[in-house]
This record gives sequence, C-alpha cells and structure tokens, in this order.
Amino acid sequence: MADKFLRAEIIAVGSELLDLGRVESNSIFLSQRLKSVGARVKRKWVVGDSPQEIETALKTALAASSDVIIFSGGLGPTTDDITRESVAQALGRPLQLDPAIIDDLKRRAAAFGLKLTDNNRRQAMVPKQAEVLDNPNGSAPGLYLQQDGALIFLLPGPPRELKPMTEDQVLDRIRRLKPAPQAVSRCLRLVGLAESQVDHQVEGIYKSYPEVETTILSSLGIIDLHFLWTGPDEPSRARQALDELVARVGEKLGSRVYSERDRELEEVVGEILRERGKMLATAESCTGGWISKRLTDVAGSSDYYLGGVVAYTNQLKVDLLGVNETTLERFGAVSPQTAEQMARGVRERTGADIGLAVTGIAGPGGGSAEKPVGLVHLGLSMNDDTQSRRLQVPGERRFVRLRTVRAALDWVRRSLL
Ligand code: ATP
Ligand code: MG
Repeated sequence: MADKFLRAEIIAVGSELLDLGRVESNSIFLSQRLKSVGARVKRKWVVGDSPQEIETALKTALAASSDVIIFSGGLGPTTDDITRESVAQALGRPLQLDPAIIDDLKRRAAAFGLKLTDNNRRQAMVPKQAEVLDNPNGSAPGLYLQQDGALIFLLPGPPRELKPMTEDQVLDRIRRLKPAPQAVSRCLRLVGLAESQVDHQVEGIYKSYPEVETTILSSLGIIDLHFLWTGPDEPSRARQALDELVARVGEKLGSRVYSERDRELEEVVGEILRERGKMLATAESCTGGWISKRLTDVAGSSDYYLGGVVAYTNQLKVDLLGVNETTLERFGAVSPQTAEQMARGVRERTGADIGLAVTGIAGPGGGSAEKPVGLVHLGLSMNDDTQSRRLQVPGERRFVRLRTVRAALDWVRRSLL
C-alpha cells in the first residue's frame, strides 16, 4: 500500500548539537506539527557545520523522493553558520544579494544602536528562485525553495524563532502545495502498569485493526498508547474505527487510563479534586517537595491544593506532622505506620480533606536487606480513613523519586473515582 502521507525529512545543522551537549529539540516540534498537514517524518539528520555533511543529507533526502525537507539552524551571521551557502552550492544555485534584507538588517541594527557588519551581509544572500521567509523574532530570515518536487525550508535554529515561522509560514505552504490527508490519531495515557503488562492485555484488541498503527511508549511510569489510522483516506471511517478501538482498549485497562490526550497526571488530579470540591495537603520525605512542585506547576492549583510539608528528618516528622516517636523507633521512618501518621498529621494540621504522604529510600545509599533501596510507603488519609501502600521501585535515585511522585498522585486520582 502506497503511503498516503507526505514524506518529510528534517536536517538539524549545528556542531553544538553533536559535541557541546545542546539538545536537538526542533525536530521533535517539527515532527508533531508536520502531522497536522499529513506529513510524516521518515528520517532525521543531525549534522555538524560542514558543507559536505549538509550536501550529503540534502541529496539523500531528495533521492528518497521526499516531499518536504526542513533545515534548522546555521542561518546566522557567524562564520560557522553555513546552511544557506551549503544548500545553494549543493543545488547549484547562485546566491544573490537581496537589498530588502539589507534594509531590514540595517533597521534592526540601528534599533540596538549598532552598525551592520560584513558578516551580517551573508544573511542577505538568497539562492536563485528562493523565497525569503520573514523572521519576526530574530535577524536571520528563513528561506523556501523547490527542487525535484520537494519543498525545502531553511529555518533558523533558535526554537523561539523556528516555531512561529513554522506555524505561520511553513505549514500553510505545505497544505497549499501538497494537499494530503491529515493524520487521524488517538492517544491513551496511563500510569501504574509496566509496558509489557499493557501490551499483553491489549494486543489482542489492536491487532484486530490492521489499518491502525499502534505504538506503545513508556517513560518513567507513564505509558502512552498511540493509534494512527494508516488506511485509505476516509476520515469518518477512520474516526469511527479509532473511537471503537480506544473504547475497547480503555475498557480493558480500566481506571489505569487517566487521559485520552497527552496530559500530565497533576492536571488530571487537579481537575478531579476541583470537581469534587476537595482540598489536598502533602507530607513528603523522600520526594523532597517534588509532589508539591508538580501540583503547583498547574495554574489555579490553590483551588484544591493547600500546600505541603517537606519533613526529611525524623525530628521534623515529629514536630511538624505529629508522627509518634515510638512509631519511628519501632517501625522506622520508612514504614506503613509512619506513612499513615504523616498523612493523617498533615490532613489534621492543615484542615485539608485529603492528606497524602510519602516516605522511602531513594538511594543509592541507605538500603538494607529488610528495607532495600527503592522501598517506598505512601499514606493517604481522607474521610477519617487512613491507609498505606507499599511500592518497590527499581532503578536509580531520580527514577525512584519520579516514579514515587507519579504513584502518589495517581493514588489520589483513583481514590476519588
Ligand atoms: P542565529 O542567528 O541565532 O545564529 P542560527 O540559524 O544560526 O541562528 P544556530 O546558530 O544554528 O541558529 O543556533 C542558535 C541556537 O539555537 C543554538 O545555540 C541552540 O541553542 C539553538 N538551536 C539550534 N538548533 C537547534 C535544534 N535543532 N534544537 C534545539 N535548539 C537548537
Ligand atoms: Mg548561529
């Protein structure tokens, strides 16, 4: 079956992306946005500031009959910015000075009290039969040209320049010149199961939809199920099939599913707390305030979140949360008893409806045979009922802490369903 989607390739240029530890993120944004115009990224390149590497990438992308090729980076005024020249060279198109760009650069420089340097002039060089793409957030204009049926875009590297240019000038050109069916897709997001468990439970369902491409992605306790319709373009049939598939998978996985979009757990928890009119307070030990941070990342969280206590030492667990000293002595700080007293303590002392507590051993030190690294106890106190749950999280410190944050937030969510 011929692919009905457009073929896209992204070429990120910049030696700093290869050896100075800068994270290449433009292609992530571009891939997502290209889907909305029916283009799928089939290959990404990250190449250094080298004319040969740029030429190889471009020629290979053209030879693969790409419909869309997007360059990011290397359009600036410095000598290592060579994308413009390298592309012109590879395509055998002479560069011409565009006086309108010079005027614009002069205006920009004057606004900062600067004079134009010779370097800046390079930004005004335009390959033959290329269109200039305005860059409202920076000095380097973008370029657009066509070659062998491909639409080629050259965009500046800084994300705050590339993103609006993509939205305003790239997507619309693709839509007009290469109309393609928009991808119809759905997503389910869940927490608290392993990838293999999820796959085992639902593969029988999604395999009965051969026209849907299913991808399962797992990241630190969160699992995304992506369903993409790849069958012939009949949007109504696609939607119907995907709705049905999502409903069947959702039913199978039950309350583990927390969103049908790529939303953060804390947003969903906040929404449920707000709906139920409940106020939450937290008492954290091994997560050091991370739960509180996540909850307050959401604007308007004061509607349902009172605040929390980071009680890292035993003394603070006693002083601020009213945990019993004998409990700590007999069972230790990482115990169901302590987790429960922390949860009840923070609920009673703050007047919250729900108290959530975590205490655990994040590692790498501090573990024992009886209480290994990754052992965490959660406490939840609501309606005068206090419970605890035990987790054993594999992995290193950051992993243990993040998984704990997610498990704790998810427990609040599920206790309110
Ligand atoms: P400028 O006029 O700012 O020099 P430019 O088009 O020459 O624009 P680059 O010099 O390649 O862009 O990159 C500038 C900065 O943009 C980089 O230091 C980096 O922080 C960011 N950047 C570049 N490429 C990417 C990318 N693919 N993903 C994320 N950030 C990027
Ligand atoms: Mg640059």
